[in-house]
Amino acid sequence: MTTHQDLIDRDRKVTFHASTHLRDFAHGNAPGRVITGGKGINIVDKDGREFIDGFAGLYCVNIGYGRTEVAEAIYKQALELAYYHTYVGHSNEPQIALSEKILELAGPGMSKVYYGLGGSDANETQLKIVRYYNNVLGRPQKKKVISRMRGYHGSGLATGSLTGLKAFHDQFDLPMTGILHTEAPYYYHRAPELEGMSEREFSKHCAAKLEELILAEGPDTVAAFIGEPVLGTGGIVPPPEGYWDEIQTVLSKYDVLLIADEVVCGFGRIGSNFGSHQYGIKPDLITIAKGLTSAYQPLSGVIVGDKVWQVLEHGTGEFGPIGHGWTYSGHALGCAAGLANLEIIEREGLTQNAAETGAYLQQKMQDAFGEHPIVGNVRGVGMLAALEFSPAAAKRAHFDPALKVGARISAAALEENLIARAMPQGDILGFAPPLVATRDDVDEIVARARRAVDKVADELTKSGDLGDGA
Ligand SMILES: *Cc1c(COP(=O)(O)O)cnc(C)c1O
Repeated sequence: MTTHQDLIDRDRKVTFHASTHLRDFAHGNAPGRVITGGKGINIVDKDGREFIDGFAGLYCVNIGYGRTEVAEAIYKQALELAYYHTYVGHSNEPQIALSEKILELAGPGMSKVYYGLGGSDANETQLKIVRYYNNVLGRPQKKKVISRMRGYHGSGLATGSLTGLKAFHDQFDLPMTGILHTEAPYYYHRAPELEGMSEREFSKHCAAKLEELILAEGPDTVAAFIGEPVLGTGGIVPPPEGYWDEIQTVLSKYDVLLIADEVVCGFGRIGSNFGSHQYGIKPDLITIAKGLTSAYQPLSGVIVGDKVWQVLEHGTGEFGPIGHGWTYSGHALGCAAGLANLEIIEREGLTQNAAETGAYLQQKMQDAFGEHPIVGNVRGVGMLAALEFSPAAAKRAHFDPALKVGARISAAALEENLIARAMPQGDILGFAPPLVATRDDVDEIVARARRAVDKVADELTKSGDLGDGA
């Protein structure tokens, strides 16, 4: 019989893993794990050990694991037609039905859907659309794109440049030129000189910084702004009050397109069809992936708004068919999975559950951690939550990164059979359970997280790394 250890040993020899310490893993000095199954909010490894997946994979398995209905939809489509390309006007039935459904959910002002396989390639498409748009409009100098520090938009060359996290730039010679970063909407991290600012004032400050950057670069060189409604991988940070209104005022003033990266927020995660609806964002372009299929198949999309679509149409009138496409654009199996997934989300009221059980999650997190000696900030919205650790909560101080507090707490949670993600920059533990989670599930997640945080807090007290907490 093949044991778990056999599999891990083989894996170490042959697989290049994402976001992994390559040397430690290859040489057996970092753990591996083979996941073999899942049901609801739980996953199981090769040893039969069961975990609550408090992060829904990478905040993507919105409908939970083991939904046979989606598997059957994929199977049925594969028997009929697994694939034919969608170039030069070819289509397949699930693609048509899925586009109709997405546009219905997106609401007025959105015109067409272009498909890819993941969030990174979808944002790559966004960048190409933005260039094409301004070239068609005869503004070849209007090409720069502004993202936020701590934004996450993928890990390709261009999309990794949009991403505002150090680990995605260092040693890759990124960001590329023409991609700029502005202030993160991160009220808790505001600079010491901004001490005493209200959230609203901080939002105005972020908008002022954006305007400053646009003016410094020259408004006729700035094409687009991209942002997640709620910062995701950069720390799970809901926007400060009034943020999106302030930002949009600046963008319209300088005729800068707005791309809403809804890869995490879209399809229910924060209690709405799209995060844009929740925060009054009126994007020109929307990026979708993750929750679109709950990861049962790889599928992403770009939703193009009317204003941009008109220009794209006009452009092909002038220049001929658009020179953009992936072999797997509109893949029939991905679209079939997407349709089945969105049907489940609708039928089971999962978006509503994310709002209601999500509110319960936020409350429980506050109750358990609001006064905790090593927790500086408890935040979130819907089924997205984060704890940010601090040795002196009142001062928004940081632990010495060498203590690896976030990673240790994530490991301690794993000991409790709970997956909560140590976010890549800072001592932040993220939660994004599947949207099928119940109140009882939330109670269990919070209880396990509490034991994990307490354990590391004890260790830090014993090692004298907690200071006096003042
Ligand atoms: C995950 C993510 C992406 C990238 O998606 P991939 O499928 O990993 O390429 C882009 N934007 C956001 C907001 C994401 O969270």
